[in-house]
Amino acid sequence: MRQKLAAGNWKMNGTSAALAELEALAKAHPNPTSEILICPPATLISRAVDTLAHSPIQIGGQDCHAAQSGAFTGDTSAEMLRDAGANHVILGHSERREAHGERNEDVRDKARTAMATDLVTIICVGESLAQREAANTLDIIAGQLAGSVPDLATGENLVIAYEPIWAIGTGLTPDVAQVGEVHDFIRSLLERRFGAGVGRSVRLLYGGSVKPANAQEIFSVTNVDGALVGGASLAAKDFSPIIDALDAA
Ligand code: PEP
Repeated sequence: MRQKLAAGNWKMNGTSAALAELEALAKAHPNPTSEILICPPATLISRAVDTLAHSPIQIGGQDCHAAQSGAFTGDTSAEMLRDAGANHVILGHSERREAHGERNEDVRDKARTAMATDLVTIICVGESLAQREAANTLDIIAGQLAGSVPDLATGENLVIAYEPIWAIGTGLTPDVAQVGEVHDFIRSLLERRFGAGVGRSVRLLYGGSVKPANAQEIFSVTNVDGALVGGASLAAKDFSPIIDALDAA
């Protein structure tokens, strides 16, 4: 049985005032059946960890460097994330692939370091609208998975998030058949590469405009083990019903 995971990506949102949202979330979910993860901006990680000291809610980073230290102005290492109290990291988000030119091999190098640093690594994959319209979705996903996921991946250290780029922050979502097709495909690729044991134990999240109104339907899809949520994770009142829907799925 794969442990379900509700992960929130705050992106570049949140200052000290946002810690109140974590307090509210912790109060609403003292004993969740799903794992809950929030990835706030790096500046809030250690205070978020302190705020959640008595809660099962976990904290992650949104990116890390492939090196552990050095002359990389503005970057954050996997070791620094761990030291601040994070135990997960998102890698290869489409916003980083697009705005920071991250290639599959960059994501893989970061993932190697993150895994070696005991961070559960959430690797994002997903197609653009043009790629979907050209019927290239599965080829794109296969290429991103093959290039971004390192060989040392296991069911414990790897989570894959399928995030169609055209669904992120747009209010658009693929229909359940489209979500199911890609998630089944990712599962089959992981089984082929890592064997059935590891391939079946990696959790697969859907991400892209998940809201309280569509969460239940998305979580009903086979091989959807949870969600990576952007906008709707910023406020406890929006994220909480998504967690409830996952707990009930
Ligand atoms: C994301 O950026 O990971 C995401 C899924 O964003 P949103 O939920 O806002 O579409």
